Amino acid sequence: MADDDRPTVRLVAHCRRCHGWLLSPRSVAEGIGPTCAMRERAEQRAGSEQTLTLFDISERAA
Ligand SMILES: [Zn+2]
Repeated sequence: MADDDRPTVRLVAHCRRCHGWLLSPRSVAEGIGPTCAMRERAEQRAGSEQTLTLFDISERAA
């Protein structure tokens, strides 16, 4: 009953958003890649503050 805290299943994971391989332990723990995590956060913000969109966040040069 004193099993390891970390299930070995967690060593292999796909991004829940783009289904790509998660390489870093942190990404595996979060279940999402760093890029997708950023986008997801931005989308959640865009949902609450509807004035801000992904396009506003990206560069609007020229
Ligand atoms: Zn991803």
